[in-house]
Amino acid sequence: MKRDLWNHSFSSLPKWTCPACESGSLIAMEGFPHCEETEESKKERQNHLEWEPEWVREKFVALLKCDECGEVVTVAGTKQLWTYEDYDSHEQCLGESLIVRHVYPAPHIIEVSEELPSECAEHLELAFELYWVDKAAAANRLRILIERVMDHFNVPVEGNSKNDKTHRLNLSERIDEFEMMKPGHKDAFDALRIVGNHGSHVGQADRKALLDSFEILEGALSELIDEKKAKLAAKAKALIQNKGNPNPYVK
Ligand SMILES: [Zn+2]
Repeated sequence: MKRDLWNHSFSSLPKWTCPACESGSLIAMEGFPHCEETEESKKERQNHLEWEPEWVREKFVALLKCDECGEVVTVAGTKQLWTYEDYDSHEQCLGESLIVRHVYPAPHIIEVSEELPSECAEHLELAFELYWVDKAAAANRLRILIERVMDHFNVPVEGNSKNDKTHRLNLSERIDEFEMMKPGHKDAFDALRIVGNHGSHVGQADRKALLDSFEILEGALSELIDEKKAKLAAKAKALIQNKGNPNPYVK
């Protein structure tokens, strides 16, 4: 994962991959970005004697277009100015930062496999959108996605308690059940569950923790849904059995 793509503040927007075709790049369209100074910023400019250009705050909107399929993506946020010293010209210069608060449809932070069931993909795509708006809500979406992955693999929703009464299993218990069915993913799913819980209860999710969660999820899904490791192992086995010939019928 190229983490630079998922900053919130950019001097110029990165070339995100198109969320529709997943191969083209999103390029800024003419007139990028359209900016307007906020009323509060204008008042400060008029009313404060010690006013500095760095105080300017603007809102921006922009359209990006995929250079392959033509998909149009909207981006919005705030623009801030900052001063820096140009050591060659010995002058104070003004730089600009775009702080992104909305991207729609949102670029994919991790790969969305075609094999991923739609009830899981739906939550993953919402998590990409919410990433820009509300990280706690994005973390919570990933937690819901894990529940849907459990459903996909028919992990029981009810279990027996010590007194032999049936009770509804919580996500932690379902992850334990899943570990008995398909071992090796308990830590990954528990990590996503905990980041999601923290997001729900504290109302916050750290950017790094959330990007780590996306990365952990990508690893788990590539094994469980795409079975990448198993497919490679099967290919290796076939090559060994066929003594290096990928197609035993072709001599
Ligand atoms: Zn495209």
